[in-house]
Amino acid sequence: MAERADVVSLLQTLVRHDTTNRAPGDAEGELAAATWIHDLLAEAGLEPVLLARDDAPHRANVVVRVPGTDPSLDGLLVHAHLDVVPAEPEQWSFDPFGGDVVDGYVTGRGAMDMKDMCAMTLSVLLDWAASGERPRRDVVVAFVADEETDGAYGAQWLVEAHPELFAGVTVGIGESGGVVESHVGADGSPVRLARIAAGERGTLHLRLTATGTSGHASRPTEGGAVLALVDALHRIGHHDWPLHVSPLVRAQLEQTAAALGHKADLTTDDGVMRTIAELGDAADVAMFTVRASTTPTVVRAGYKVNVIPGVAEAEIDVRCPPGFEDELLAALPALVGDGVAFEHSVREPSVQAPIDGPWFEAMVASVQHVDPSAVVVPGCLGGGTDAKAFSLLGIACYGFAPATVDPDGRRRSGIHGVDERVPVSSLLGGREILGHFLATV
Ligand SMILES: [Zn+2]
Repeated sequence: MAERADVVSLLQTLVRHDTTNRAPGDAEGELAAATWIHDLLAEAGLEPVLLARDDAPHRANVVVRVPGTDPSLDGLLVHAHLDVVPAEPEQWSFDPFGGDVVDGYVTGRGAMDMKDMCAMTLSVLLDWAASGERPRRDVVVAFVADEETDGAYGAQWLVEAHPELFAGVTVGIGESGGVVESHVGADGSPVRLARIAAGERGTLHLRLTATGTSGHASRPTEGGAVLALVDALHRIGHHDWPLHVSPLVRAQLEQTAAALGHKADLTTDDGVMRTIAELGDAADVAMFTVRASTTPTVVRAGYKVNVIPGVAEAEIDVRCPPGFEDELLAALPALVGDGVAFEHSVREPSVQAPIDGPWFEAMVASVQHVDPSAVVVPGCLGGGTDAKAFSLLGIACYGFAPATVDPDGRRRSGIHGVDERVPVSSLLGGREILGHFLATV
């Protein structure tokens, strides 16, 4: 077996490629990062392809297929995004794009979201290429652009324009999951827990338009567009959505409670909320995934203080647990109310992958191969990842980008914030888990 391609230096190089995604059309560094990966894989003897939309050649993606030894098996997708959210260097205690190793951490924007996964996956591919080892099934790896906006140049575009790249693939792994973390059990003992994401709430964008008579503000008439809109926003934003505990979140809460030695009472709404409160951090985002959320985010009205505007508009970010879509859509007209028009677009349906069966078991086995004490539970994400795009191809998507606990207590931190960094030991452990999974599944 060849020496493991050095995952730490791979991550350092990736961090040094500034792939900041500020807005649609603006992530110049993606091409350099993608080209670097492409060339590395090609030099190793693999056959990667570099792809970008014609109107944005700098928003580059790399896809490579490693043929498995058993062509009768379904293919597996590994997806990881190359872009990162902006960093404000003056707030950081190190260079966000320096990629330095400091105090046992790899530091920099993307270290945790999610160039760590890019580096781990690259390391496995390079080791395979060097040793001649091959996976059992076809493994398709997609390093994609533009996840931090909406994937229009990345995952979404690949799925629409190049579905042939994913032929035969039925399961995918990607962002958000498989990270082993330390928690404290009910009796005070330490418990190691990893959550694998097997679902995501769906996303809906709602646009409200209120109209009224415009005129001079010194002579107000009854109602008006602004007040009608504000009333609607108040009803929607403060609406108390009923609990909807999907089978996935139920399994998450039951298994997390069992691991920590808490009693889960999921028979009543109060019991569910009490269980979530007792589990604390270990419940992850269950507080949000047990119900829908309707959050006003954009409001537009008026242009001059003494003029009553004739139109007022708002946008609302709506997230919906798997299986609650019909109920949510049925409730919207009454919440919006009379006199305000609304339209919605289902941007991304919810995602749910099986939590019983060989795929999930294989992920659990790989985590426990490296950390036998880890308890692995399924979970649901409150937001979204590129899994939503890939699931449109019928691919069952899991959040599985593993990492282990640092023995000296260092923690992964700074995602979308300041001083992003990952412990070197967690990265090496994650590489072992991922390598074991990709080789054995
Ligand atoms: Zn991410």
